[in-house]
Amino acid sequence: MTDITNLTLTELVKKIKSKEISSTDITSNYIERSKSSKKLNTYIEETFDDALANSKKFDAKPDFQKKLPGIPIAVKDLYCTKNVKTTAGSKILENFVPGYESTVTQNLWNSGAILLGKLNCDEFAMGSSNETSHFGNVLSPIDNNLVPGGSSGGSASALAAKLTPATIGTDTGGSIRQPASFTGTVGLKPTYGSCSRYGIVAFASSLDQAGPMTRDVKDCALLLEVISSFDSKDSTSIDFKRPNYFSDLNKNIKGKKIGIPKEYRVEGMPAEIEKLWENGKEYLKNCGAEIIDISLQHTKYALPTYYIVAPAEASSNLARYDGVKYGFRVEGENLIDMYEKTRSQGFGEEVKRRIMIGTYVLSSGYYDAYYLKAQKVRKLIKNDFDEAFNKVDAILTPSTPSSAFKVGEKMDDPVSMYLNDIFTVPVNLAGLPGISIPAGLDENNYPLGLQLIGKPFDEQGILNIAYSMEEKINFNLNTSDWWIK
Ligand code: GLN
Repeated sequence: MTDITNLTLTELVKKIKSKEISSTDITSNYIERSKSSKKLNTYIEETFDDALANSKKFDAKPDFQKKLPGIPIAVKDLYCTKNVKTTAGSKILENFVPGYESTVTQNLWNSGAILLGKLNCDEFAMGSSNETSHFGNVLSPIDNNLVPGGSSGGSASALAAKLTPATIGTDTGGSIRQPASFTGTVGLKPTYGSCSRYGIVAFASSLDQAGPMTRDVKDCALLLEVISSFDSKDSTSIDFKRPNYFSDLNKNIKGKKIGIPKEYRVEGMPAEIEKLWENGKEYLKNCGAEIIDISLQHTKYALPTYYIVAPAEASSNLARYDGVKYGFRVEGENLIDMYEKTRSQGFGEEVKRRIMIGTYVLSSGYYDAYYLKAQKVRKLIKNDFDEAFNKVDAILTPSTPSSAFKVGEKMDDPVSMYLNDIFTVPVNLAGLPGISIPAGLDENNYPLGLQLIGKPFDEQGILNIAYSMEEKINFNLNTSDWWIK
């Protein structure tokens, strides 16, 4: 059993194509392991029976031309899946069954993949620890009292615990890269417009992107190749020529210029993060890359800018949950009373906090002072990156300012929770691609990640650099399977 779940996505694809193993073998192994891993609370909805039936169907009539032939995959519960409950981690959608499929998940199924189930996440993807989910918090397989990060915490935990060979998350301010960093896995946020947002429950539409979460860089390239596509159903989808990320993956990064932004050396950053970053530079030099100091001078405004723009868009997106159009409703004495009761009982605390901040910064009188100002600063942040990319090919930073924290540790202090996103949000504000790769361990043996930021649409560039570094880092995730009885 462990043999199959130990294989990477790429290895599984190879073995299935060479008929060494069947889709049914793979699927049943993952189901079995998932069933004995309930303690982690990764799944919101399991579709194991259908997955098994689909794997049998695949084996009866296999198509080995597909990129993910008969491979079972569990996905974040923010992706709408036709006829399969989609909750976004919220009570307000607890019984919502979409009549349509998101483009990204449809791309998975078109490539031969099979849905294993829907993975837990922070409510409407708002959070950094998976503790805001209506369905309870998720534990990290790394240690029994650690958060897996968020908002794609269920995805990261399921991936690191080997309950799915790969998965997809969404990243509005770091929700793929931060949990990847916390769990010793690889997570990539593509350039805004690379992956379709159609059918993904919206959080902040100008920032949201789908992306792969995998065990290594090769798997990441393969999964990105499957999910990235132009989609006329998403007006912000961009029609650019997508490379063959997987077959074009190579380790030739000689002469590449890598920027080190001085503003990312934040006050109070633990020495071990500093050290990790230094090691990262050494690995890159050993691969033949050149290290160049750069400045991204508006970095310190990124977090406040994000926490104006994201709640503003969220407050507008969440207006649709009014007890009329979707699932949950609490009856009231009149229409307004029904709205109020539905929304106050249907949304959790963090979501309500964001709606209040968002409505405030958009309200007349404050719009110019907050929202409009934030949009202007957002442009300055983008300009910093544009200027830097005149000099360098990619940028190296830590993924997070610390390793994973304990369950409950930051729940009473939203600002310290928000500070977790300090290195990831600038990338979303500027619409750039970013990848987090496992790069070392802290003194408690908790994983730490390094982030590579690329030019718009240069996912291939950062994948290649990550691929080269991965070989030098030689990171080994060692979970003791403590959660399996
Ligand atoms: N932690 C950030 C937030 O709570 C980012 C979330 C995300 O990327 N979806 O907004």
